Order: sequence, then C-alpha cells, then structure tokens
Amino acid sequence: MVTTQHFEGFAREMVETQLRPRGIHDERVLDAMLRVPRHEFVPPQFVAAAYADHPLPIGETETISQPYIVAAMTEAARVSPGDKALDVGTGSGYQAAILACLGARVYTIERNPRLAEEARLRLARLGYQIVEVICGDGSEGLAAHAPYDVIMVSAAAPSVSPALLNQLAEEARLVVPVGDLYHQDLLLYFKHGGEMTVRALDPCQFVPLIGRGGWPE
Ligand code: SAM
Repeated sequence: MVTTQHFEGFAREMVETQLRPRGIHDERVLDAMLRVPRHEFVPPQFVAAAYADHPLPIGETETISQPYIVAAMTEAARVSPGDKALDVGTGSGYQAAILACLGARVYTIERNPRLAEEARLRLARLGYQIVEVICGDGSEGLAAHAPYDVIMVSAAAPSVSPALLNQLAEEARLVVPVGDLYHQDLLLYFKHGGEMTVRALDPCQFVPLIGRGGWPE
C-alpha cells in the first residue's frame, strides 16, 4: 500500500535527486515543492509516477509539467508573500498551488472548461482558497485583475503578447516559454523603472498556448 509517508519520501527524493542537482537553490521553492502533494494533481493511474522526472498526462491531451520545469519557473519568478500572481494554463492546478504555497494571491486561467472545473474542485478540496480559477483564454492575460507582480505562462507562445507585458506591475516578473510548436526558450521578463529587460533561461518543450495571443485553434 502506498501511504502519505511514501509520498513524503518521493517528494524528498524529487527535491534531492532532480531539483537541487540541477541548480534549484531557493529553499522556499524547494520547501513548496516538498509541501504541495503532487500526487493529488495527477489522474489515479499515474499516482505512483507523480514525483518522477517527466511531465504526465492529465486528460484532454494536456499535461502537468515536469517537476524541474515548475521549480525553475517558480524560482525565476522570485515570488514573495503577498504578491499578486497570474498563472496562465491552470491544467491540474499544481503550479497555482506552488505559487499559493509561497504566499501569493493567485489568479489562474485555463481555456479548457473541464480542466478548469476539475482544478477548481481539487484546489478547494486541498485548501488552496487563495487561488481563483477562471475559465477562458489567458493568452492575452487577465486584464480584470491586473497589474500583477508575477505572471507565469505554462504553455508555449509564438511570441509574447504585448497585453501580457502591459499587465506587469513595476518590479514584476513574467516567465513564458516562447518559440515554435516543438522547441521553445523559457524567457524571463523583468520590469524595472518602467523599462523591460528579458533573459533566456532553459530550452523547454510545452504544449501550445492557444488563443488570440497564442497559436490559432
Ligand atoms: N500549469 C499546469 C499544471 O500545473 O498542471 C500545466 C499546464 S499544461 C502544460 C498547459 C495548459 O495550458 C493546458 O491545460 C492548456 O489547456 C492550457 N492552455 C492553452 N492555451 C491556453 C490559453 N490561451 N489560456 C488558458 N489556458 C491555456
């Protein structure tokens, strides 16, 4: 039988063998990766593989991202308690839960109604009341709650929509995979003194961001 204790062991192993050796050093991020029960965010048939070093299917041809990518994006976003965060591409709700665990107030937007509803129920059941799930096209952000201190996009965009950049507060960070349908670079935008700087982080491979500011359906 697989028990809660086993999952704690799997999470610790994930941190020690996947995340730290690849350069994730922010202890707050590592602690969030330990505390958020990733096995609750995957379908029952994948529970045993929840902490393994790869993405997993979550239904509707979508995926929960690999733990390392979630950790790398979160570390790059330098989330502080009280930050207002926008998470584009809710999927399972796991990334939103990690942001909430770091003390952010989270708006997360998902275009697939079934995934959005499942994530809403899951996050409520697990006690992440600080996360609001919205169903819709987040490729141009979510103007209703802007500006944000952090925007994380976990689907691949052909370019960065100006609308997303316009929704960044002063000193805000945007992490977004940009490229073609098969290969992207994870980009980190930083707004400081009204100016935007951009830095390429890791190469990556995400499912497409579909919508007005992304790829056509
Ligand atoms: N962050 C998710 C998690 O923790 O499980 C994984 C995200 S999955 C790699 C990408 C998600 O982006 C999919 O669920 C997909 O339906 C969603 N998506 C794609 N285009 C979108 C859009 N324009 N607006 C909102 N969600 C979108």
